[in-house]
Amino acid sequence: MTILIEPPRAGFTAASDQPYTYVRKELSEPDWRRYPGWATVTESEWQDAQWQRAHSVKNIRQLRAVTGDLLDERFYADLAADQQQRATMSMLLPPQMLNTMAPNCAPERRKFTEVFYADPIRRYMLPVLSDREPEWGSHPYAERDSLHESEMWVVEGLTHRYPTKVLAEMLSTCPQYCGHCTRMDLIGNSTPTISKTRLTLQPADRQDRMLDYLRATPTVRDVVVSGGDVANVPWPRLESFLTQLLEIDTIRDIRLATKALAALPQHWLQEKVLDGVSRVAHLAAARHVNLALHTHINHVQSVTPLVAAATRALLDAGLRDVRNQGVLMRGVNASADDLLDLCFALQGEANILPYYFYMCDMIPNAEHWRTPLWQAQQLQLSIMGYLPGFATPRIVCDVPYVGKRWVHQVVRYDRNLGISYWTKNYRTGLDGSDAEALNRVYPFYDPINSLPASGRAWCRENSHLPCDAALSVGHDSVSPAPEGGEDPASTPGRLSVILPSTVTTTTPSGSFRNGHGPTETCVRQQQFDIHAEPVSHRPSGLGHQQHMVRDDAGQ
Ligand code: SF4
Repeated sequence: MTILIEPPRAGFTAASDQPYTYVRKELSEPDWRRYPGWATVTESEWQDAQWQRAHSVKNIRQLRAVTGDLLDERFYADLAADQQQRATMSMLLPPQMLNTMAPNCAPERRKFTEVFYADPIRRYMLPVLSDREPEWGSHPYAERDSLHESEMWVVEGLTHRYPTKVLAEMLSTCPQYCGHCTRMDLIGNSTPTISKTRLTLQPADRQDRMLDYLRATPTVRDVVVSGGDVANVPWPRLESFLTQLLEIDTIRDIRLATKALAALPQHWLQEKVLDGVSRVAHLAAARHVNLALHTHINHVQSVTPLVAAATRALLDAGLRDVRNQGVLMRGVNASADDLLDLCFALQGEANILPYYFYMCDMIPNAEHWRTPLWQAQQLQLSIMGYLPGFATPRIVCDVPYVGKRWVHQVVRYDRNLGISYWTKNYRTGLDGSDAEALNRVYPFYDPINSLPASGRAWCRENSHLPCDAALSVGHDSVSPAPEGGEDPASTPGRLSVILPSTVTTTTPSGSFRNGHGPTETCVRQQQFDIHAEPVSHRPSGLGHQQHMVRDDAGQ
């Protein structure tokens, strides 16, 4: 006889016992009339793209005009100090974006300033001096063009970093400027601390040269069309470029990069733009080319009904997909709840596929946003299993001279010094005939304030050293790779580390060198030289030794 024993607790674990509880939340548009400066703005004005652009906030005076007396003077002083001393991007906030800050704080409530200070959108779109790390505001090896993509320009604005993919930068402006922009070297207006690099070719010439390169390079099949933000490219010019791109048989994927889908959805809802998207999308479909749009949304507050409406209009116009590539940032979204709330709003309410979260790149003054690798790995684990597999985003580290790696693909990780090591399986244009390019490991660095006391002490002691010497000093404390990762130290004769400098140094363990170039300019020196004319320490001329930047939406 079989005796059936009732389990003590039948059924699935109660939702309340899960680390994250999914509850469907419908999207809502915050009421812009709560801001004194917009108290009389009508619905039709708000939905007008031209009104949004004309009323974008570019300075503190204009911010005051919107917020009235809601914010204490100390906030404006904090903001002004940051703009003078730290900001790498100028201020540019479309009303739509500003309206997603402190969305639930009614003006009559007394603690508006505190709520505004703590707001995740404010923390990356409107940074203030007190946000920044006081001791290690910049990592010693941070760089203006931290991914060295400018060196991989094959034509001005065309970065060829991966074997089959390129990034086409159409222009250097956006309808909004993000404080953490990885392309701070080129994008936007100069700030008191940063003189921006400028594109030199006329837009039409640059596009013609890009198309010529792609016609002559059939191994490239995938083009990210970006800027800046393609929402700032006049539509007829963008359509002309896309149409010519679609005439190249070998191009099979095209991705349009625009944060404006969230910051200025009114742009993508314009009839003339949707008509143009429809023409290009139908041409792409006829040629069996995948035409998609990639956006950059970092927090659930940005996903509003207008954003969802713009996305659906673009999909109805014929785009194959709309995907999100956010950036993981402390104080903004670096928790499993934040990431899952955002992903469920994107996937479930706005038809935007959660695709990537980048670790924040090593640009100047970004240490308060950056997360250590171990935290990114924990977050990746924490978000597994809740979303459909195809909509579970990968958290990636964009490693200089390598490209995007999933955060668990690290081959070696020194938690004490916060140095991770990565490998690559293809050659970039910079590697040329370098036989050892695929045998090297390439370092990436955790923010110093995330290190244990011994690691911070080591950095204090050694940060004056050039980066190659610093790595050499710290070599003894390197720990084994996480499970499954190769430990390069176990393959004698293969260990060499690509540094973000051009110095070649021999160490007891092998050759620490940079991948290219004969100069002896150390990255650390470059990083602290942010007031200098940016092109002055870069090679001149076109080809693989050029200076350029990376797409915000990635490749
Ligand atoms: S390029 Fe992207 S990240 Fe940079 S300011 Fe423009 S929208 Fe923001």
